[in-house]
Amino acid sequence: MANDVHESLTAVPAESPSSNADPATAGDRPHDPRHHVTLENLHTERRSFPPLASFAAHSNATAFEYKKAEADRLEYWKEAARRLAWKQEFTEILDWSDAPVARWFGDGILNACDNAVDRHVREGRGDRVAFHFVGEPGDTQTLTYADMHERVQRAANGLLSLGVGKGDRVAIYLPQIPEAVVAMLACARIGAIHSVVFGGFSAASLRQRIDDAQARLVITADGGNRRGSHLALKPLVDEALAPSIAHPGFAASVEHVLVVKRTGQPTEWTEGRDLWWHDVVDTQPAEHEPEWVDAEHPLFILYTSGTTGAPKGLWHSTGGYLTGAALTHRIVFDLKPDTDVYWCSADVGWITGHTYIVYGPMINGATQVLYEGTPDTPHQGRWWEIVQEYGVTIFYTAPTAIRTFMKWGEAIPDGFDLSSLRLLGSVGEPINPEAWMWYRRVIGGDRCPIVDTWWQTETGSIMISPLPGVTATKPGSAMTAMPGIAAEVVDDEGRPVRAGDGGYLVITEPWPSMLRGIWGDRARFARTYWNRFDGMYFAGDGAKKDVDGDLWLLGRVDDVMNVSGHRLTTTEIEHALVAHPWVAEAAVVGATDAITGQAVVAFVIVRGDAEGVPEDGEAIADALRAHVRKEIGPLAKPRDILVVSEVPKTRSGKIMRRLLRDVAENREVGDVTTLADSSVMDAIKDGLASGR
Ligand code: ATP
Ligand code: MG
Repeated sequence: MANDVHESLTAVPAESPSSNADPATAGDRPHDPRHHVTLENLHTERRSFPPLASFAAHSNATAFEYKKAEADRLEYWKEAARRLAWKQEFTEILDWSDAPVARWFGDGILNACDNAVDRHVREGRGDRVAFHFVGEPGDTQTLTYADMHERVQRAANGLLSLGVGKGDRVAIYLPQIPEAVVAMLACARIGAIHSVVFGGFSAASLRQRIDDAQARLVITADGGNRRGSHLALKPLVDEALAPSIAHPGFAASVEHVLVVKRTGQPTEWTEGRDLWWHDVVDTQPAEHEPEWVDAEHPLFILYTSGTTGAPKGLWHSTGGYLTGAALTHRIVFDLKPDTDVYWCSADVGWITGHTYIVYGPMINGATQVLYEGTPDTPHQGRWWEIVQEYGVTIFYTAPTAIRTFMKWGEAIPDGFDLSSLRLLGSVGEPINPEAWMWYRRVIGGDRCPIVDTWWQTETGSIMISPLPGVTATKPGSAMTAMPGIAAEVVDDEGRPVRAGDGGYLVITEPWPSMLRGIWGDRARFARTYWNRFDGMYFAGDGAKKDVDGDLWLLGRVDDVMNVSGHRLTTTEIEHALVAHPWVAEAAVVGATDAITGQAVVAFVIVRGDAEGVPEDGEAIADALRAHVRKEIGPLAKPRDILVVSEVPKTRSGKIMRRLLRDVAENREVGDVTTLADSSVMDAIKDGLASGR
């Protein structure tokens, strides 16, 4: 089921018959206006929001940042890396001789936990709050950097007492509680490699990840709080580690399971293997000298979300990764550590949580909110209540959450004081321009800059984003490559597209926080990311470069549709649908069609507070079809539009179009194991059966 990028690309329907009519012009690209169009451009957006002078006057980033990076890219990265605390300064910057495996700052020596925690204590910032933790049931903890320092040292000693050491892999399967952060940092502190598995994954997914990384230790909890009840975690670990007939000896690498008591629910116990965190960790001395490691020492393994296929175990280095994390967090989120309260709503089990809860913000000395639960427990205003209560100033979330709040209606956030907010961020999927506008107006009070940040588990840190205070933003555009990052949009032959055209998003130069590989499989690493375009990194996303040269992410090239010879992206049609006042969320797929090759099929979710929505699904469909036709043209007009109450999403909240494609083509629905809620597919199929 491996779905490596270059393999999936070949599945995209080939050249369109209409767009490549004149072979004589083929050699003249990219400047010939008649050249082959890789991805059609349907959507135009003219709104633009320049930075407020009051914001720009104090922003961490200035236009000079780009100039410095352009003048000397390696020097720029060297300076960024120098801001970290090094035990031994590096003299090398980049060694690309073993491409595509990079070495950055290779002869430097440091420790990630020392950078994230000890340094603040050492430099007199121990009293600063690191985390305001909010449990779903309402319990809270305030943890200063000094508190974190004490905890990571005890935890490091605890891990060492279990025989875990430098280079060993540790699987972390925890709810979003402070121990998750402490466990990650304790691993980093002793040079062990953490592999965090999101707490919502099944036993089978956990087993696969434990086995792939050959973890010696699993850190888990009895359970976590989810939607008002106790969600058991430990039984899933037991199941993952149980010998099975299908997989004899599976997960045999695990020697111990360290269990945090979170909910207090009854827990089965395997004597000798299972140990309580409070017994092992709390009894240890709070003194531990960090294990100093080479810059290229692996910091963690993390599996991709699995939106497009089998998850890949990517691994990241220490020095380069931390350089990217800290720099991007400081300039994209404009962190002022003395006054800001920063909240990233992602789970630490995703790359966003790794880079923008644990490493980036902590290295920068941020005060953060860490929330355990769901946005609608005990009520749909829970997040906004937390913003109000803690005076959150910087908020980073995903389009899926924003569209959910649009569906619930703006009366909910309107009930809270959100005036503390000064900057908003988005990550995970292309943000629909209307969702961006809603976010700006309803959450940001029309005053907060929005940073739409494009990046991936592979890239380690943000690659494309506006810089607040510098960039005039456009709703739906991630704008430009970060300073020091060389991004380009290319056509099928790897040549830059002209302004205004769409194509494949590639990175053309190595960067410090780039992945160093797929764990245990160098060949797959090279094949997956570096084969499609010679020497360029390509991980599967389409993008458009507009006439100003700004970038618009167009989703995954696997999702591109071929309608009557035109290569359309699902993203632009979804943007048009969400621009209709009735629609909160839309998912578009291409379904086989006898006449057009593929036809556009759309699944839409209606806004709870929309006015004048017809009762009848067909009437809604007719109105939306006419709307798409008017907005972006007849070609994009959906053949079918189905009103649904949910669309299938991965556990990280991304729309899973391949399952909707199965529904649209009347096929048996494929593998649903990475779905957050598998009942969603049944509801859609039932709705279709009754509606047709
Ligand atoms: P898998 O690789 O297993 O299919 P995944 O790609 O969903 O999973 P992640 O690394 O979590 O795993 O997600 C990165 C992807 O998310 C990007 O390739 C892109 O498709 C999407 N993405 C992230 N941020 C943005 C953004 N700001 N705009 C558009 N797309 C985004
Ligand atoms: Mg991916």
